[in-house]
Amino acid sequence: MTTVATIVVAVTAGALLWTLAEYLLHRFAMHCLKGKGIMSREHLEHHVHSSWHFSRTHLMSWAGMLAVGFGLWMPLAWWATGPAIGLAVAVGWALGYFFYELQHALAHLRGPSGGYGTWLRRHHFHHHFGHPMANHGVTLPVWDRVFGTYERPERVRVPRRLALPWMVDDDGELRPEYAEDYELVGRATDSERLAGLDRARAFASVAPAD
Ligand SMILES: [Zn+2]
Ligand SMILES: [Zn+2]
Repeated sequence: MTTVATIVVAVTAGALLWTLAEYLLHRFAMHCLKGKGIMSREHLEHHVHSSWHFSRTHLMSWAGMLAVGFGLWMPLAWWATGPAIGLAVAVGWALGYFFYELQHALAHLRGPSGGYGTWLRRHHFHHHFGHPMANHGVTLPVWDRVFGTYERPERVRVPRRLALPWMVDDDGELRPEYAEDYELVGRATDSERLAGLDRARAFASVAPAD
């Protein structure tokens, strides 16, 4: 018999399955492929500028991830356990995925508003600016801990030209409330040579130069 508790467990399992995919896709399909294929290329472009803006490729990934949830995990779990659990696993997968998309966009666009947001930003911006082969999970640290890629920096050193808009005031200086977690390094200039270097380093999964 399917109870509410079983449904809750199935939704949670679907969401956890997503977080494993979030880790594996980010590490292997995006960084290890060094720009081969659209998923890797788009992600490493994201590292070049460290900015987030909506594009058509988001619609493609949303459709792709929904197709995996409802076209693969749902029939598999349905076949193994029945329709209600099959549907619940797919819903959990989709919820986990959209939670990740939302949190990642917000991390780039807005400052933190609580403990989780503060942790997520430090964790993710260490991935961007400190060590792109660490902290592949965005929403949870669990898989980085399991696979030995978890790093917790003292303070994240952010190249001034790549500073997130919410980090800095009108003069381009770090807002004092973020001084414990971040420091700005290097000059704000964005020369052609530096832009080329940023691209080369992002595609090699190496942190940007100061
Ligand atoms: Zn990012
Ligand atoms: Zn990355």
